[in-house]
Amino acid sequence: DSACADRKVDSVCPYCGVGCQLTYHVKQDRIVFVEGRNGPSNENRLCVKGRFGFDYPNHPSRLTVPLIRREGVPKGLDPDFDPAKPFSHFRAASWDEALDLAAAGLRRLRDTHGPDALAGFGSAKCSNEEAWLFQKLVRTGFRSNHVDHCTRLCHASSVAALIECIGSGAVTASFMQAQQADVVILTGCNPTVNHPVAATYFKQAAKRGTKLIVLDPRGITMGAYAHRMVRFTPGSDVSLFNAMLNVIVTEQLYDEDYIAAHTEGFEALKAHVAPMTPEAMSPACGVAAEEIRDIARLYAKAERAMIFWGMGISQHTHGTDNARGLISLALATGHIGRPGTGLHPLRGQNNVQGASDAGLIPMVFPDYQPVGNAQIRAAFEELWNTPLHDKPGLTVVEIMHAIHAGTIRGMYIQGENPAMSDPDLAHARGALAMLEHLVVQDLFVTETAQFADVILPASAWAEKDGTVTNTNRQVQMGRAAVPLPGDARPDWWIIQEIARRLGLDWHYTHPRDVFAEMKRGMHSLDHISWERLDAEQSVTYPCPADDAPGLDVVFGDRFPTASGRARFRPTVPLPPDEPIDDAWPTVLITGRQLEHWHTGSMTRRAAVLDALEPAAVATLAPGELARLGLEPGEPLAIETRRGSITLTARTDPLMPEGMVFVPFCYVEAAANMLTNPALDPYGKIPEFKYAACRLSAC
Ligand code: SF4
Repeated sequence: DSACADRKVDSVCPYCGVGCQLTYHVKQDRIVFVEGRNGPSNENRLCVKGRFGFDYPNHPSRLTVPLIRREGVPKGLDPDFDPAKPFSHFRAASWDEALDLAAAGLRRLRDTHGPDALAGFGSAKCSNEEAWLFQKLVRTGFRSNHVDHCTRLCHASSVAALIECIGSGAVTASFMQAQQADVVILTGCNPTVNHPVAATYFKQAAKRGTKLIVLDPRGITMGAYAHRMVRFTPGSDVSLFNAMLNVIVTEQLYDEDYIAAHTEGFEALKAHVAPMTPEAMSPACGVAAEEIRDIARLYAKAERAMIFWGMGISQHTHGTDNARGLISLALATGHIGRPGTGLHPLRGQNNVQGASDAGLIPMVFPDYQPVGNAQIRAAFEELWNTPLHDKPGLTVVEIMHAIHAGTIRGMYIQGENPAMSDPDLAHARGALAMLEHLVVQDLFVTETAQFADVILPASAWAEKDGTVTNTNRQVQMGRAAVPLPGDARPDWWIIQEIARRLGLDWHYTHPRDVFAEMKRGMHSLDHISWERLDAEQSVTYPCPADDAPGLDVVFGDRFPTASGRARFRPTVPLPPDEPIDDAWPTVLITGRQLEHWHTGSMTRRAAVLDALEPAAVATLAPGELARLGLEPGEPLAIETRRGSITLTARTDPLMPEGMVFVPFCYVEAAANMLTNPALDPYGKIPEFKYAACRLSAC
């Protein structure tokens, strides 16, 4: 406990995008206790992951030495493989041998087959500096733009819509602003589970009188605090938002002055939504017309209102359209750019905002600057002193297709686990097995690392210095609290060693050197220095001056678009890619549990968290389970067109009939064996929130 600690180190939680500040209590170079700190997004609070999920770096399966695959051992998941005893499949190597082999394989493929033969996945769990270095390595060392990360599975569609409509992919206001709002819409998100400390601020806002409107196909516990909890038919988001816009137009609830001063395209939107009355959309949404009218009026008539959304919005083949609809609601009512107003996609990983800002995206350089723009490209060519590719690269799922097509032959994967996180895992794992050369850099022999030729032992968050950017645009300082175990190394150092072996002349000595370079390519970091972050712990971007706080609310006067105006983008309701039918009658959705993080590589190795949720479960409505003749706790089989899994059934009265929820962290019942890889055409995000399945007792 804290009383026995011999020192304390201030840092940031490594899990979700809320970005809670915390203090590690360390005894004999081991973290023994974690305490919340008074950060701008948590005010001393932590959830169960931040408080108890600190011991995974000490797990017996932690990698402490570079590994090279033994000759003749096939690539892939071997049920008999024990990550704590990797030497059955891999042999230990020196850093020089492992790095030489890793880089030689990448170089050979690049030089033989051209830059398009290589791709890289960086990580939203790494620091801003590591994200910057990784995308720079792919762009200047691999010489392509085939670099992506888990934003593609998370909020890529939200970002696509935000950039298109308001010129910026980040939130317009922090979640603290909810406390100043009269009305808050929470849609397609489950904050008590996925953003638990942010949820406490929503609850407090409700206690003080803010009217929460929860819009979700699934009941969520936040509904208990809501003024209205509206459950709609899965996949009908666009119909619902268009019907709300129809009410706002028909009843002239829009803000004429705001629209005239700050937007373009409203007349087209008006005409577009004219036929989409609540009565016309009600059957598709499964919501009564009067209910749609009520929530549209509540939102539009509020003096200050905000919209928060999560992956229930973004993870659809119409995810970009969903976000466009929410943006139109805010623009039509002028609920943006003032305190207590705004648009906020709740970001998932602790640094998915920062990793995206730093350029781990195939179509844009850092700060979302298009790779196809000659002027921007020339600026980065000058900064990095090397020619750059002018074509956008491939995205996460597209890269898996390109491997199957024989185009991409080698990959470098840092801290991501596509053998668990990608949709249609049989396809994704098949792709990983086909790679001629795979380098994986991680803390453990993850499911993905089991396909690797070379595994490089990397650094856990509490073992390194670096900055991270949370969902509120707050750039925060993380600090090394404990030493690296064995021969593990900081990620920035490993990336640099690979870069040098690919012929790049890199000489960074500390992450602060990287941050200094980032500031030369990213105006979003203006007036934010490493020294300032070290002193102040957190600075919000954009920041107007060296001694001024950053802006919590943005776009009060103009938007960062060419015209300075925001754009309405009308949307057409489309069915899910794989609608339910008689043969596949149940909707499968996937997501996270409170206790576990994403593919489970960290939290399933954290003793308290693993004890709280030790086994794979599927959650469904009590009536649904009864129809199958099952009791809670009995095994349930779930099958889709792509595969089947068996796991334990659990009931939740908040689940609607006809739906099953499966967390994606359990390798023994991997949810993504089932999911549909169909992509949103704009954000290229898969439809994790709707696959047709069937359930059976087993
Ligand atoms: Fe960590 Fe998120 Fe929990 Fe805060 S809310 S302690 S950032 S997981």
